[in-house]
Amino acid sequence: MLSKRELARYNRQTMFLGIENQLKLKNACVAVIGLGGLGSPASIYLAVAGVGKLILIDSQKPEISNLNRQILYFDDEVNGEAKVKLAALKIKKLNPDVNVKALNVKLTRENIKGLLKDASLVIDALDNFETRYLVNTFCVEEKIPLIHSAVEGFMGQITTIIPGVTPCLKCIFPIPLPKRERFPILGVTAGLLGILEASEAIKLITGRGEILAGTLLLYDLERNIQEKIKVKRNPDCSVCRGV
Ligand SMILES: [Zn+2]
Repeated sequence: MLSKRELARYNRQTMFLGIENQLKLKNACVAVIGLGGLGSPASIYLAVAGVGKLILIDSQKPEISNLNRQILYFDDEVNGEAKVKLAALKIKKLNPDVNVKALNVKLTRENIKGLLKDASLVIDALDNFETRYLVNTFCVEEKIPLIHSAVEGFMGQITTIIPGVTPCLKCIFPIPLPKRERFPILGVTAGLLGILEASEAIKLITGRGEILAGTLLLYDLERNIQEKIKVKRNPDCSVCRGV
């Protein structure tokens, strides 16, 4: 059931999504892994859309060079509290009806199952393939949909992984993209792709529209070019073979 307050808050979206879909959003539990340039807009838009439970995972504190894109953090919060704690405070202010679980931890093979056991959907808002592969393996094993995105400069990519149906991250990227401590990035690129991740999540939860299943969307903001690439499962994939 939606309260009178919730009916009023979500009126402009239930107009076309319907009350049933709003209830699906309320009953969903989305894990956002990485609360940086992608995770900031993704979690903000999931919260204001009325996703009932958010699990936020990050192990860092905001740094001054994060502020050109990580819009959940303010100038006077640099090197202070943990990102997840600051993010949870702001998300609760944006929408007090959202249940936020803030986890100031680094995901490992040992803790991932316990931390993500309630998630019905996972958003990859990470900046490295080491942790992405860990999350991908977990999602394939547990059959939890995973929305992947990565950004650099003016370029972004996004795809939605449905275990057993679409290629997994390891099928698409068998070799990790090189890890760099400081890569170039503009706030608008991370902002746009983070919002696209929230949009994919909302469509997956409600069943509305088309998702990027089996499709890698490449976005070049500098030239305003979008390209959709069909991606295929690797029958010999070390992660999703036989799933
Ligand atoms: Zn695979």
